[in-house]
Amino acid sequence: MTRSIEIVGGGLAGLGLGLGLRRAGADVTVFEAGSYPRHRVCGEFISGLGETTIARLGLQPLLADAQRLDEVEWYFGGRPTRRQRLPRPALAVSRYVLDARMAEAFTAAGGRLRTATRVEMGETPEGRVFATGRRRASPAWLGLKLHARGLPLTRALEFHLGDGAYVGLCPVEEGRTNVCGLFRQRPDLAAPRETVLAAYLRAAGLGALAARLDTAEVCPESRCAVAGVGFDRGATTGERMSLGDAFALIPPFTGNGMAMALQSAELAIDPLLAWARGESRWADTLRLVRRRLRRRFGCRLAAAELLHPFLHEPPRQRWLAATARAGILPLQPLYHLLH
Ligand SMILES: Cc1cc2nc3c(=O)[nH]c(=O)nc-3n(C[C@H](O)[C@H](O)[C@H](O)COP(=O)(O)OP(=O)(O)OC[C@H]3O[C@@H](n4cnc5c(N)ncnc54)[C@H](O)[C@@H]3O)c2cc1C
Repeated sequence: MTRSIEIVGGGLAGLGLGLGLRRAGADVTVFEAGSYPRHRVCGEFISGLGETTIARLGLQPLLADAQRLDEVEWYFGGRPTRRQRLPRPALAVSRYVLDARMAEAFTAAGGRLRTATRVEMGETPEGRVFATGRRRASPAWLGLKLHARGLPLTRALEFHLGDGAYVGLCPVEEGRTNVCGLFRQRPDLAAPRETVLAAYLRAAGLGALAARLDTAEVCPESRCAVAGVGFDRGATTGERMSLGDAFALIPPFTGNGMAMALQSAELAIDPLLAWARGESRWADTLRLVRRRLRRRFGCRLAAAELLHPFLHEPPRQRWLAATARAGILPLQPLYHLLH
């Protein structure tokens, strides 16, 4: 191959793309502002990731021990309301483990990984791909997460709906449970780092869940937070090739953001290889990748954005709960629309 590819951002999209390109022999460098391993705000269940993507990116050995979760218990008003069997099992694995495994696999495959290196976002030379994650947005949502021991789950995956919030509980490694929520930011709520998640749970009317958390053993190093989470679409014009959340962040209730990051990497591999071999111009490569991303994710993103208020606004949640209890909520068609 005659041309090199640079990937800015070593999250799932960036490392997934790096792995896919290295498997085809491309010359690739990933620049990552942080380092590995690291905890990330994430529900840590991957929903809707197909075998083709796993195979194309060479992820089988990295996901081999991920737990397969095939049920979700939905909680409305603090009570279990509806159990849903997932059409395809979700994979549960912490970002602490997964990102580090992918980084190691990428370097083992001959990729160059530059950690602790933040790339200037203004420059967009040919061959540079941006997998830099979500962009800060307003009105602001806050993401909070921690791992806890001694927090047994009633079902494989728990999903709690609160006032301006929703929270997922998911089993990860070493008997830990990941507790991760998306909360409408409350400027009047001041709490220290150690208790901010419990405070937000109580403010959202999820006191019963906060009380369960009080009895569990929190892993202090796993606490993390992100502010300014928003769900706007990525650039469809301009000179930048953006993948993963940098293209668009799907509302997290779908559990599909990680799958989308990896799928977007998969969609970009062939056009980038053609460019690396000198067979296409960068402008055409950019257009082709964008077209593929829009085709694959357009409907999914629109459906998720439409449904998102039903997950966090109490009047719509009540409607959702009533239809779920009555057994008339079309959960399976909705799942397919969102994945
Ligand atoms: C509250 C919450 C819960 C979620 N729960 C789930 C879930 O349960 N399941 C699911 O599938 N998805 C979930 N998601 C979404 C999921 O976390 C993202 O979709 C996924 O992480 C996207 O991967 P990415 O590689 O695009 O971005 P990221 O994983 O964010 O990686 C981007 C990387 O780029 C680096 N970077 C940024 N700028 C630069 C720069 N200038 N130079 C160098 N490096 C840079 C960052 O350090 C980062 O490592 C959740 C999101 C939120 C907010």
